[in-house]
Amino acid sequence: MTPPAAVSAPLPDIAANLAAVKDRIAAAAREAGRAPEAVTLVAVAKTHGADRAEAALAAGHRVFGENRVQEAQAKWPALRARYPDLELHLVGALQSNKAAEAVALFDVIESVDRPKLAAALAKEMDRQGRRPACLVQINTGEEPQKAGSPPAEAEAFIAHCRDTLGLPVTGVMCIPPADEEPAPHFALLRGIAARAGLPVVSMGMSGDYETAVHLGATHVRVGTAVFGARPKPPPTT
Ligand SMILES: *Cc1c(COP(=O)(O)O)cnc(C)c1O
Repeated sequence: MTPPAAVSAPLPDIAANLAAVKDRIAAAAREAGRAPEAVTLVAVAKTHGADRAEAALAAGHRVFGENRVQEAQAKWPALRARYPDLELHLVGALQSNKAAEAVALFDVIESVDRPKLAAALAKEMDRQGRRPACLVQINTGEEPQKAGSPPAEAEAFIAHCRDTLGLPVTGVMCIPPADEEPAPHFALLRGIAARAGLPVVSMGMSGDYETAVHLGATHVRVGTAVFGARPKPPPTT
């Protein structure tokens, strides 16, 4: 199988892309009366080779996202050895049987979405003595095919993760339906975070991160606008 890096187009100017996205985040924050430092850019490097992640690291960026455990395992340990202060977020679906690998590799797990996974993560954190921060993923659009706790069950699920299982839950995350205005979903997510007393609100991607910042995002997950268009993902096995 050809690795994704080999089919990547020529390296875009990642330093310039990062600077442009950070400028737009800062401008959106100021428009909303928020401090630019209140918003963290999670640069989503999925499907791209280590060369692109490396370019972002060389430009001074340190917070990254991946959506597959296996791909992240292949890419990030070598980079972390050279940039020990980087912070890696899992933004994609996690199977319970990959909980051990996820706890070992990631600093933030943004996709805690069901009791079975939450229990597996709690068990692994106890076993490994490593406690990556957890975000509860909310299915704000109540889409049947999408991961996440239904909004109506969010409060109880957050309490279960935090209080019953003792997971280090710091916030919530959502991926709005592709074909809808994202703003109502962002507002819904922010409200859930506020009611639960959680500081972290992860929402907004390349197409809508400024809207997300207006509506209170503390983390935006941006891939394409930083790293360029994605090559076709490798086939799932
Ligand atoms: C891929 C991905 C992103 C980034 O998407 P872009 O549109 O390329 O910015 C953000 N969040 C999640 C969960 C993703 O899977």
